[in-house]
Amino acid sequence: MGYQRIDGKAISGQIKEECRIKAERYREQGIEITLAVVQVGNDPASGVYVRNKKRACEECGIKSLSFELPEETGEAELLSLIEKLNKDKTVNGILVQLPLPAHIDEDKVIRTIDMKKDVDGFHPMSAGALCTGQRGFVSCTPAGIIELLKRSNIEIAGKECVVIGRSNIVGKPAALLLLAENGTVTVCHSKTKNLKEVTSRADIVVAAVGKPKFITADYIKEGAVVIDVGIHRNEDGKLCGDVDFENVAPKCGAITPVPGGVGPMTIAMLMSNCIASVDLSESL
Ligand code: NAD
Repeated sequence: MGYQRIDGKAISGQIKEECRIKAERYREQGIEITLAVVQVGNDPASGVYVRNKKRACEECGIKSLSFELPEETGEAELLSLIEKLNKDKTVNGILVQLPLPAHIDEDKVIRTIDMKKDVDGFHPMSAGALCTGQRGFVSCTPAGIIELLKRSNIEIAGKECVVIGRSNIVGKPAALLLLAENGTVTVCHSKTKNLKEVTSRADIVVAAVGKPKFITADYIKEGAVVIDVGIHRNEDGKLCGDVDFENVAPKCGAITPVPGGVGPMTIAMLMSNCIASVDLSESL
């Protein structure tokens, strides 16, 4: 029996197209959805992410404003820019590209963003809203995981879901979202004992371990759904995930590839959060 290859590229394309149509409708009502993208320093990886986000904005008809600050920018200066963007009624979303230089307190910067414009969903109020089932922005990668499952017609309710990883941006929110979809959720981490025993129970495994090809077939139940969040570049420059795809795929019911799985969903969900900001800012 063949496995289903979950096509994140195609699904993210559909979501961006839906965003484009919604942005156009807002424009007809006189609302130009605008995302402010703030980058401090010139980390090459961050540069690539920022460029990709701006390109996605163009595709979706969302206006992007660029704030490229030098590496030596002080914390106070960055905070005052954020305060200014918070007050600017023409700005719907604020994204500060992470990581920030070491002399800037990242948590303080995230807390300064108005939660009504927190399109990355990293503000503690957004995380709290997710935890208590209230309205708020959901961080993009975990939101993308749920969209991949739903749009691939994979049922979550009542399923054994195991999330490997407990970071604030992926593991924890992914677990909360699966719980909100009525999955029976277990979160594993670096101190989990008998990891294979736990993951082998799962109908749905979300791998956000941050270790290349860590998950092999012996971690996976026959027919399980495997979502690979990891992104790594191996010695010959090729991308791979936290899951050993060739080894695991034949045993799966469905699996996301890397690249072309979760990766493209993150930016699509950022676009979707920008669109949702119009309604959310009214109701938060
Ligand atoms: P992280 O390093 O913050 O978290 C890794 C988690 O894995 C930790 O909670 C840790 O407890 C757990 N872990 C580590 N070793 C383990 C082990 N041996 N057994 C069980 N658990 C273990 O990473 P993160 O920010 O959550 O990202 C995870 C992966 O996802 C990385 O590869 C990252 O590059 C990737 N990522 C991809 C996207 C995307 O858009 N696709 C977005 C964010 C992160």
